[in-house]
Amino acid sequence: MELSDVKLIGDKSLEHLKEMGILSVDDLVRNYPYRFEILSRKNINDERFYDDMVIDGVVQTSPVISFFKRNMNRLSFSFIAQNHLIKVIIFNRAFMKNNVYPGKEVTVIGKYNPKTQTLVASDILLSSLPDKPQIIPVYHSSKHITSKQMNLFIKNALVSYKKENLIPEELKVKYGFIDEDRAVRIIHFPDNVKVLKTALKTLKYEEIYGYMKKVKELKTKNKKHDLSYVKDFDEKKVEELIRSLPFELTSDQKKVINDMLDDLRSDVRMNRLLQGDVGSGKTIVAFIVAYAAFTAGFQSALMAPTEILAFQHYQNAIKLFSRTDFRVGILTGKMSTKEKKKVYEKLESGQIDFLIGTHALISKNVLWNNLGLVITDEQHRFGVSQRLALKDKAKSPDVLLMSATPIPRTYALTLYGDMDVSSIKTMPKGRKKVITYVKKTEQLKDVLSAIYEALKNGNQAYVIAPMIDENEEDYTNVNDLKRKFDLAFKNYKVGILHGKLSNEEKDKVMQEYLENKINILISTTVVEVGVDVKNSTIMVIFDADRFGLSTLHQLRGRVGRNDLQSYCYLISDKDVQRLKIMEETNDGYKISEADFKLRGQGDIFGVRQSGELSFKLSDIKKDYDLILKVRDDVNEYCKNTN
Ligand code: ADP
Ligand code: MG
Repeated sequence: MELSDVKLIGDKSLEHLKEMGILSVDDLVRNYPYRFEILSRKNINDERFYDDMVIDGVVQTSPVISFFKRNMNRLSFSFIAQNHLIKVIIFNRAFMKNNVYPGKEVTVIGKYNPKTQTLVASDILLSSLPDKPQIIPVYHSSKHITSKQMNLFIKNALVSYKKENLIPEELKVKYGFIDEDRAVRIIHFPDNVKVLKTALKTLKYEEIYGYMKKVKELKTKNKKHDLSYVKDFDEKKVEELIRSLPFELTSDQKKVINDMLDDLRSDVRMNRLLQGDVGSGKTIVAFIVAYAAFTAGFQSALMAPTEILAFQHYQNAIKLFSRTDFRVGILTGKMSTKEKKKVYEKLESGQIDFLIGTHALISKNVLWNNLGLVITDEQHRFGVSQRLALKDKAKSPDVLLMSATPIPRTYALTLYGDMDVSSIKTMPKGRKKVITYVKKTEQLKDVLSAIYEALKNGNQAYVIAPMIDENEEDYTNVNDLKRKFDLAFKNYKVGILHGKLSNEEKDKVMQEYLENKINILISTTVVEVGVDVKNSTIMVIFDADRFGLSTLHQLRGRVGRNDLQSYCYLISDKDVQRLKIMEETNDGYKISEADFKLRGQGDIFGVRQSGELSFKLSDIKKDYDLILKVRDDVNEYCKNTN
């Protein structure tokens, strides 16, 4: 059954569901509630319940409606409940105004403030609640699809849905799980807490089981021996290239290069994740391996998440390989059809040995002569399907993924269990630590004078804000900062960068910054990914408490990319204790561990991880022991998957 076959889901809803990442009936059914509200009437004098009050009463006044901001409205009225006169406020329910009138009995659910005797409601029920407690599933909602609507869609989808059992019967009995199809129905329509708990337990296990099973299958598949994987490269030429570098490789770089050269030699496909902190020098490693594959007669691909980054890699590669016969090409979406066509032709006829580019590399027009190695930079920026699409361009290429988001090693081994993991832990010599300060808003003057000093010396500064426009929560925003910085730095050029700009605009701004035509770049976190602007020596992050430590670390990695002393200023009035970790260490692994301890998986895999590790019910950190147990179970019960 297609999503469009589900009753009540029309074209519009289809579009809105898609925005939420729900593309199939299965996605919909697996869109589990993230919490449950238990509704039973509360006593207004019992302060334990102030945060989730459920209370019956009688409306006293006609509702007053006010409109504000662009799409917001506010409906308020007073009502008498348990002998108290209470003011009720609810947002964006102007459409209820005719249903709420003096004398009407309603049940209001929300947060109660006894001082002001105000109840800010999350819902108003027009029919009164049954006496038995009700469990209400709450879903992540969007501007277009409310939690209730989501539940209704799922109800309609479940009519002709049958979940297949994944967990072996014996394990179900062993752990006291229930039938998976039943569990799905219960989680969306719970009527008793005890059974709901069992359903949650079952589905959480099921989710991890499915994931670990896939990992195991991939592992088996990837470990097949086949002589066609052997790449007989020219060791002498590779050594020559390494000797010609303007710097000495770090010992970690040498080690990971050796790991990968071994992969090339072997009759098993390379399937490797290369982790290394920002600035640790992953690119050169990738270049060397691509060159080795070339000497064995194979083409290589390097896919980067942005045009700028692809172009930067391209320029570096051109420089590095100018004295070799290794021919490097570039392909990005921005290029003209004519230019692209030329690249396609050269690629197919084998006149390009190493193609660097963006998503454009996975276009169906791109045909290779003899693709043997596929490299993805900043792999967490891509979805699994994009990476697979690139891989599918060849019969069975070696695969190298690179990531600057270090995951603590134990977690990586479990979750990327089908891959080999190499890490670069040491930084190149001579790199100065970025000196980091946590500053209060009132100390902003110090920060501004530091920026001023840097600009005076011809250096550049990044300024990061969490929001683009003005926002309800009052966080610093890019547009506002732009106005203020224009005033404060009259003789300098201030540029802005954020996700609402088109790709062309973004590239233009980045290019200008790269050429020092823009002196201060105010940006959201879009600036985070990999571009090297060596001349930047200052990174200022407003509302730093809004970000996870790993994100802050990535952002900080934009400066300190040469031998000049660089500085990072974290501006925040709260959460200073956590931010202090940034003052203490520049080690991405330590920061990642700390982040993991403090925030769980959220920030590390975050929104950016594009779906591949998006457990709905499990948390990689909190449920780590369970994950290990499931891994063992999978190993025991899925013997003959291939
Ligand atoms: P990342 O791992 O973040 O992708 P890059 O590959 O962009 O880092 O490397 C950052 C900078 O360090 C580049 O300018 C690169 O030329 C330089 N670099 C890489 N390896 C070394 C080394 N062994 N010694 C000195 N500089 C190096
Ligand atoms: Mg990089």
